[in-house]
Amino acid sequence: MATDNNNMSENEEMIQQGFQELINDYLTSIHRKHTEVITKAFNFANQAHKGVKRQSGEPYIMHPIAVAKIVCNEIGLGSTSISAALLHDVVEDTDYTIEDIENIFGPKIAQIVDGLTKISGGIFGDRASAQAENFKKLLLTMNDDIRVILIKIADRLHNMRTLGSLLPNKQYKIAGETLYIYAPLAYRLGLNKIKTELENLSLRYEHPEKYAEIESKIKAGQALRDELFKKFTEPISESLEKMGYKFDIKARIKSPYSIWKKMETKHVPFEDIYDLLAVRVIFEPQKTEEEENECFDIYVRLCKIYRPHPDRLRDWISHPKANGYQALHVTLMSNEGRWIEVQIRSQRMDEMAEQGFAAHWKYKAGEKSEDELDKWLKTIKEVLNDPQPDAIDFLDTIKLNLFASEIFVFTPKGEIKTMPQNSTALDFAFSIHTFLGSHCIGAKVNHKLEPLSYKLKSGDQLEILTSKSQRVQSSWVNFVTTAKARAKIISILNKIRRQKEIEGEAILADFLTKEEVKNDRYIIQKLYELHQFTRKEELFEAIGNQTLILGEIDRNAITGKSSTGWKRFIPFLGTGNNAKELLKKDDQDKEKDNTKIDRKKVLKLTEDNTQSNYKIADCCKPIPGDDVLGYIDDAGQIIIHKRQCPIASKLKSSYGNRIIAAAWDTHKTLSYPIPLYLRGIDEVGVLNKVTQIVSNQLNVNIRKLNIDTKDGIFEAHIWLYVHDVEDIKIIIGNLRKIKEITEIRRLDD
Ligand code: MN
Repeated sequence: MATDNNNMSENEEMIQQGFQELINDYLTSIHRKHTEVITKAFNFANQAHKGVKRQSGEPYIMHPIAVAKIVCNEIGLGSTSISAALLHDVVEDTDYTIEDIENIFGPKIAQIVDGLTKISGGIFGDRASAQAENFKKLLLTMNDDIRVILIKIADRLHNMRTLGSLLPNKQYKIAGETLYIYAPLAYRLGLNKIKTELENLSLRYEHPEKYAEIESKIKAGQALRDELFKKFTEPISESLEKMGYKFDIKARIKSPYSIWKKMETKHVPFEDIYDLLAVRVIFEPQKTEEEENECFDIYVRLCKIYRPHPDRLRDWISHPKANGYQALHVTLMSNEGRWIEVQIRSQRMDEMAEQGFAAHWKYKAGEKSEDELDKWLKTIKEVLNDPQPDAIDFLDTIKLNLFASEIFVFTPKGEIKTMPQNSTALDFAFSIHTFLGSHCIGAKVNHKLEPLSYKLKSGDQLEILTSKSQRVQSSWVNFVTTAKARAKIISILNKIRRQKEIEGEAILADFLTKEEVKNDRYIIQKLYELHQFTRKEELFEAIGNQTLILGEIDRNAITGKSSTGWKRFIPFLGTGNNAKELLKKDDQDKEKDNTKIDRKKVLKLTEDNTQSNYKIADCCKPIPGDDVLGYIDDAGQIIIHKRQCPIASKLKSSYGNRIIAAAWDTHKTLSYPIPLYLRGIDEVGVLNKVTQIVSNQLNVNIRKLNIDTKDGIFEAHIWLYVHDVEDIKIIIGNLRKIKEITEIRRLDD
């Protein structure tokens, strides 16, 4: 009893201290001092969550307090949001209702808490369709009150910071979701710092070893970078002082996640990443209304000190990013001959870059970015207005628009248009008008004819060519990249498909009438199964499109005459059971299988794969040593994917509850053929050196070797039998020593 009491008072002390910190932080912020409502919200939430503990053992209220602190300090919101953050889990987790909140705290706070309750329990539920619904809700709430989303992001950030106390399969689900939706969302809202932290935390839980490795390598290079930074920035400081500026120069180190991503996508080792260090110049403008010009003044001055890279001036001042980001990025050559990026920003721009949307309440002048945000919200609304039946598709569509950075293109009249990077001519056409998009046959880019799929580059001038007879093609979905174009194309295709279905259904009805067969669902099912469709709509569509003409086989099947088609149904009908019952039994068996898997344990992947019920995914083909996870498919089979496999990412965020943790427990007994890519200078004997190292020195078997040379450069694909990732590392390490080889990496396939 005594210890219990001790614990109680210890907890109470921790809670009070946490709250006091929050109040102190709030009082130092720029907001009006409404501590009363915050205190009231805290007292209410504290007694509502009383006695409940988090997974980590802490009293539950510590979570809302932490979220409120993030909302206050890192997003910069005021008392209404802080109170809503303190109350965010009350309606979800206790007996209080939203009416109670409204009675005590008024409609504004209640509305935000209500929004947060609606989207609680993760954006992604157990089934894909429910997830999309929730996600839609989330985006719609965003239109009502952006604070709901900002607090939701704070909630997620705190959950990520405390992810360590959860089971690995939960960690993957939450980390996956975070990377899939929350980090892009934070980026889109201009919360760059939070976005970076979310990404780093996701990496830390998804690839713990790689995260640790990158971190230790960053640390190891710290002293050298400090030295470089000092030497490089000294003349810059001098010259800014001469210009009469108050300023701050900061070193910015690339985040572990960005480094990892670059290593993965460019297939380079850590040592080959040269833009680890960037320099940030943050200045106080001499005249607020001149701050943009002053950025350019500073730029000109810096170019007198160091040589600028001609192709790497990024002007985010005249054209801010859609999330409001403004700065001037230049790349300068240091005296040691290294390119270093310098970002020039005013204090206001810097705060906008770190805190995003929230920061510009502080600066009334930042109206530009509000426009950009409004524009983005409008696009989201447009996409939401086109209902799509496929939930996962919908998620992808939205996601496309979250992370894109922008390029600038011109209309024939010289108007400038902002488009997401990687947009095509067709995306551009749809961005102007649906009609232009749906009848587009090509484009004149800088007066030259280009196909619809042409990838736009900044500065292109575009004239869209249309034809009345052009119709939307299903292949277009494969190359458009903007959410708007994609949503429009799918919606038009769906309309066409539904039309064809209706036509097909009518043709089928006529056919059945002629054959004097009753038009019921059993007959329809018989027919679509006969043609190996899984849904009746597919049958209707095929008939409507005239890719399927009803004839002899169908006649025999529905009238009961013998034919090959008929035989297929004997197992179902011949036993006296009806097909449905058989199917039901089948389903039950599947479920039983499913429950046999213990999702909380880490699945051991052994060499003897016949003992266990897992399969290696065809898409990413992981081998021992790769970071992996398991996904339980519809049949109860566990499929092993690489954690960074794009298909696995989708599964993680869409079917999180089917993910299980998996780890290799192998001992180099099996070999797997793995392709490597080599590129280098084509000199006599290079290939010989390669095979010498691989087969003689390392004793590795070569399965296949393709080589191609052109203009003094060779490219080779080489398939080797290896046991695990460790083997590959050793091989690559040894081959790197051949001086003619400039590039070497493992290919996914
Ligand atoms: Mn929460």
